[in-house]
Order: sequence, then C-alpha cells, then structure tokens
Amino acid sequence: MKKKVFFIPAATNENLESIHQKIIRLFEKANLENCFEAEEFIAIKTHFGEEGNTTHIPANYFSPLVEKLKNLGAKPFLTDTCVLYASERSDAVKHLHLAEKHGFTIEQTGAPIVIADGLRGSNETTVKISGELFNEVSIATEAIAANAMIVTTHVTGHITSGIGGAIKNIGMGLASRKGKLRQHSSVKPSINSPKCTGCGLCLLWCPEDAITMNGDVAVINSKKCIGCGECLTVCRFDAVQYNWQTSSSDLQKRMTEHALGAIMNKKDKTCFFNFLINITKDCDCFNVKQTPMMNDIGILAAKDPVAIDKASLDLVRRHAGKSLESMSYPSLDPLVQLKHGERIGLGSMDYEIEVVD
Ligand code: SF4
Ligand code: SF4
Repeated sequence: MKKKVFFIPAATNENLESIHQKIIRLFEKANLENCFEAEEFIAIKTHFGEEGNTTHIPANYFSPLVEKLKNLGAKPFLTDTCVLYASERSDAVKHLHLAEKHGFTIEQTGAPIVIADGLRGSNETTVKISGELFNEVSIATEAIAANAMIVTTHVTGHITSGIGGAIKNIGMGLASRKGKLRQHSSVKPSINSPKCTGCGLCLLWCPEDAITMNGDVAVINSKKCIGCGECLTVCRFDAVQYNWQTSSSDLQKRMTEHALGAIMNKKDKTCFFNFLINITKDCDCFNVKQTPMMNDIGILAAKDPVAIDKASLDLVRRHAGKSLESMSYPSLDPLVQLKHGERIGLGSMDYEIEVVD
C-alpha cells in the first residue's frame, strides 16, 4: 500500500498566523493525533541552527505543534544532540545558549529544551537492530526514553549525504557521539602532535585508558580505543583528529541504520514534518548565512521518513526543474539512503501525495 504524504504550499514571506494554521491543518489531515497520548513525553526533534545560520526552521513555527500536544495532555519538549566538531553546539550548555539566541525560548515555543545526549554527547542507549552493517547502534538516551516523537526537518542539500532530510535528521541527529563517529569515521582518532599542548585532559576523560603521554604529547593506543570520541570533545586545542573520508554511499547507509535504531521503539508513534522552505545548498550546521537555491515550496507531513524524503526530492525536482543534488552536490546520490531504508524496513519510497488546502 502506498504511504500517504500530505502537502501544503507555504512560503517564509507569509504571515505567521497563516503558517501556524497550515501546520495545524497538516497535523489534523494526517491524523497525527493518533500517535500521542496524555502524559507521554513527546520529543520534537529539530535543529536550532549553527551560530550564524539564519535559514533553520524559525523558532516561532513550533508553538502550534506544542499547543496541540499539550491539549492532548502530553508533555512535549524540543530536542537535538551535541555535534562532533568544534562548534557552539558541541556541548549541551553552549547548545542551549545558542538555541535561546535563535529564539527557541519557552516563551516563544511553549516547550522546554532537553539535549538528548547529555552534557557532552555521551549519554547513549544501545539499540539492537537488524541492519546490513550494524546489529546495534548508539542513540541519544532521551530520544529513546521519549514515548513518541515529531521530527521537524529543514530540507537542504548536504555535503556528504546529498539531502539533509528526515532520515539524516534522526540518523545522524539522534545518534550519540559514538553513533555519529561510527557513521563518519572508519578509523580510530589520532593526535596531531604539533597542536597538542600536553594538558592531559583527554587522559582523564578517556574511558578505556587508551591515551598516555609521550613526553609532552598525548598518544592514542588504537588497540584499546573504542572510538567513543570523548577526546575529540574535551580537547580545547583541536589536537585530536579523525579520518572523515567515509564515502557518501557508505555514510548514507550507516546513517540510515542509525535512523532505524532511533525510532525502533516508537515506529507507530513517530511522525515527520519536512519544511521545503529556504532550501539551501548546505545544511543548518554551516556557520554562515546562506542564500536559498530556489523559491519556497511548502510543508509536508507523513508517518514514514523514507516516503517524506522521497516526496521532498520529487517536489524540489518538479518546482526547480532539476534535482536537489544537481543544484548542490551533483556527485552525490541521495537515493542511496532511501533505497537502503527500504531494504532494512525503515520505510517505503512508494508514496502518494495529498494536497491539503
Ligand atoms: S586534551 Fe588535547 S592538547 Fe590536551 S593532551 Fe589531550 S590531545 Fe593534547
Ligand atoms: S576515542 Fe574514546 S577510547 Fe579512543 S582515545 Fe578517544 S576517548 Fe579514548
């Protein structure tokens, strides 16, 4: 049976009241109410935008969803996880400050923020999956602890996966640091000696005692290292380096398997909103102001991450007259993640679209 994807045209230059009404109409038309019950913790996964990013989903778009969930007696919260690299989102404290700076206050959205993988991105739950590459994945603890989830995704091009869509939002965006590393990196970290000051902080944090000092420089024993990434986060001198050379198709498959693990315990209680507005070449992790590549299209809602990402790619092609990847990263094929998602049971590309008025 074809998966249902609901679509409503929308643009960022519309007044806020109109956007709010459209989000509510999608919620109701897609029967998303059935996913949630009173007293449940509902994670609203989003991306608060990197410092300098201005094209993320605006903070003032969230209050209708929060209100809907509160009216059901549920307990919604906004969430995201720490990133691997040096950034204003690499720990929970900086991340919360940045979210507030971008307008994600409780007064604006109606919901508090809980960073799902804790202070340093290491609060994780191991989830067993039947993937082709992994039989277990490491997911942010509070994402697993939530009873249900609404995944709100700003659709963009992407430098490694071809599309920043719903699958990426939950696969990479809800993985713990270890989970992210397993997607990005096929080798263990090493120390860039000239940058190492010998401060010794990484030795204190390494859970496996895999780091020792050789004179004034830290050294990693790759036989002991489990690739958890603690050293990458705590080093203030950018002296821990990773090999990020995983191929796009390999990364997409790893990411899709983490997406499966992220919603494994609430597959019928997870729904997706894809925002086809401010469609930029790169995702909201880039710390620069970006110019959209095309006109706004609208908002999609569905219960299937594969179907909603396929519908997003098709809508972009129809409206722009060319594919998302041809406008951003032509050498990448974003269908790799969708086909892999079908193979491992994450969802289906066979969808039908219903336009909501
Ligand atoms: S935390 Fe960084 S600078 Fe300090 S010893 Fe470890 S690698 Fe060197
Ligand atoms: S990745 Fe984790 S286990 Fe490996 S050296 Fe760094 S802190 Fe230790």
